[in-house]
Amino acid sequence: MGRPPADLPARRLLAKLRDLRARGAAPLPEVVRLIASEVVSEVCSVYVHRPGDLLELAATEGLNLGAVGQTRLRVGEGIVGLCAAQGAVMNLPDAQNHPQFAYRPETGEEPFASMLAVPVRRSGRVLGVLAVQNRTPRHFTDQEVDELETVAMLLAEMLPTVGNQEVAGSGLTGTVPRVFAGTVLMTGIAIGPVVLHGTRPMGLTLLADDPARELDRLREAADRMQRGLDELLAGVPHDASASRDVLEAYRLVAADQGWLRRVATVIESGLTAEAAVGRVAGELHDRMRRIADPYLRERLADLEDLANRLLSALTGDKPRAPVEPGSILLARRLGPAELLDWHAAGIAGIAVEEGSPSGHAAILARALDIPAVGGTRGMLDTAETGDQAVIDGDTGQLVLRPEAEVHQVYLRAQETHTARSAGFAALRDKAPVTADGVRVSLMLNVGLDLELAQLDRTGADGIGLFRTEIAMLARGAVADVAEQAAIYARVLNAAGDRPVLFRTLDLGADKLLPGTVIEEENPAMGWRSIRIGLDRPALLRRQLRAMLLAANGRPLSVMFPMVATAAEFRQAKALLLAEAKRVRPAPEPLLIGTMLEVPALMWQLPDLLREADFISVGSNDLVQFMFAADRGTSSLYNRYDVLSQPMFDLLEQLLKAAGEAGVPVSLCGEAASRPLEALAFAGLGLTSLSMPASGILPVKALLAEVDLAAFRPVLASIRRGSRGAASLREPIATWARERGLPV
Ligand code: PEP
Ligand code: MG
Repeated sequence: MGRPPADLPARRLLAKLRDLRARGAAPLPEVVRLIASEVVSEVCSVYVHRPGDLLELAATEGLNLGAVGQTRLRVGEGIVGLCAAQGAVMNLPDAQNHPQFAYRPETGEEPFASMLAVPVRRSGRVLGVLAVQNRTPRHFTDQEVDELETVAMLLAEMLPTVGNQEVAGSGLTGTVPRVFAGTVLMTGIAIGPVVLHGTRPMGLTLLADDPARELDRLREAADRMQRGLDELLAGVPHDASASRDVLEAYRLVAADQGWLRRVATVIESGLTAEAAVGRVAGELHDRMRRIADPYLRERLADLEDLANRLLSALTGDKPRAPVEPGSILLARRLGPAELLDWHAAGIAGIAVEEGSPSGHAAILARALDIPAVGGTRGMLDTAETGDQAVIDGDTGQLVLRPEAEVHQVYLRAQETHTARSAGFAALRDKAPVTADGVRVSLMLNVGLDLELAQLDRTGADGIGLFRTEIAMLARGAVADVAEQAAIYARVLNAAGDRPVLFRTLDLGADKLLPGTVIEEENPAMGWRSIRIGLDRPALLRRQLRAMLLAANGRPLSVMFPMVATAAEFRQAKALLLAEAKRVRPAPEPLLIGTMLEVPALMWQLPDLLREADFISVGSNDLVQFMFAADRGTSSLYNRYDVLSQPMFDLLEQLLKAAGEAGVPVSLCGEAASRPLEALAFAGLGLTSLSMPASGILPVKALLAEVDLAAFRPVLASIRRGSRGAASLREPIATWARERGLPV
């Protein structure tokens, strides 16, 4: 694992810094002087992050001392601010001509051309910036960059004690209640004390006297980690199998030696194995922050997860000590193996700052039934271990240190949830029928093998949306025909007699395969979904062939996403019919439908309804395009309502036209999983709803209590009486609440 360590300059500097620290207080001016002399630079400065997102010059060797405590830059301003904002190294031969350079005359930095600035961070937080400058314009070498990063790591450990400097974020922690709004990853309510993921006790030994020994320790720990991982994966039951798709992708990452070599290189510069792993994990995190591709971000999250496991193997930690029952896990990110460990340790709820509903953590949280929220940025700056917290997985919020009354409200809500779940279980084998006898079909939205078990667990009527692209994203590529056929056959086998609606690949927008570079301004409205399929017919035909093969004479229903014109549908249908001629036995029946996600289809209904066997409304995208509001922008999350006049009018017109043409309509966006929405849709006459598994039983429970015949005129009168209102949610909810309906 690499060459024997040389006596690198960094090691000498680190040893001196350690001596300085061992003598007690290590005043910042002395630290910067030492760094300047050892790395041979004319200027060395430390900027410290202050509350209010400011970076203050806290010490300097080489700039005007009068600027200390005076010069301040906003995070994002100037080279130093950019370094802090991006958590990235800035290596500039001519800093003053960089477009972001912010001139501060009081520093006297005009003579210094080149600049190397590195972030000083601990546990993922940027505490400040360490910068060196020289008169000669030059690019700093990779070794110099590496050295300064190592010094920054040591500085991070010293900052809280250096000259009593206050560290960033410390002004934010406290005892006041805070609410962090995010997105729902898994519904439900969890209440308990906070445990923090990925923060380790400070005071790990950073510097090693014997790097050769550290390399041995790394090797041994890596072996231990690999063995532990094998055991963990072997212990995952096959049916609830935390999906082969997810875990096998993870295995591949674990087998990649590249990142271990990087750790070894850092050890050679003089750090202990623990410190080197910590530093590589930090680097991974920074890379992740700069990657927009959600799939690649997840792969890097896996790596970060592995780094944490390696750290546990080095420090001899048990994978996870049991936590207090009901604990709430707060994490920046969470990899699949970490989540399984924490689950075994007994956590009851999860909040992740950087987690999306399609991420691995969310997929597993749903499979394991753990209430979870994502996108709760900023929570780690204020949460402390042991704080009380509530995961409100119904609204996507984390409530930290709730007031006593709020705590009580959530306790009651949790009890209601528990009682309801117990009641729900009894509903599993009952058909979804309203109190006045209307049979509603409740189907599942799924995308991975893992979720197929939900069919039996919820008693769903079938699969109303199989998102074929999800398995491809988990694999990292579109599988060949045989592999695809095997996937689709597994789905059909799991469904048995229950119907399955396969949707062709909906790639593009936020669902990108690795290596895809999006250069579009608005990818959600860009080259995606069926547009790709029609422009790359070979890709679409291969998928259609795989579906036909998988059906092997059984019924097959296929629909196309993001269709915008009747002509597009006709073209896609022709491709399917052409493939169907070549595959024997032919599916019986073969039903070809379209999703309705683009409003323009509403003005092409006569043509469309002549050709389509069924229509499935994709309310996620339809709402996005009806209101021109990006579905991924959290600040727009509650701005427009699916329970509104335009949506109701659209659905009514669609149902009328489709009814006359004898074409069945279903709705498969996430909205169908919310009982109030399901009530309204059923009231409009939509009796086939497809949703995530968590919605099936609550919606079934609601429908069982609704007299739909009584609700229909109420809905009509609410619609008549609320013309011009942005949302009809309140009057509908009031009617439901007055009747004690579980909405
Ligand atoms: C939708 O848009 O409502 C839908 C079901 O498709 P997806 O969420 O996969 O875009
Ligand atoms: Mg969609």
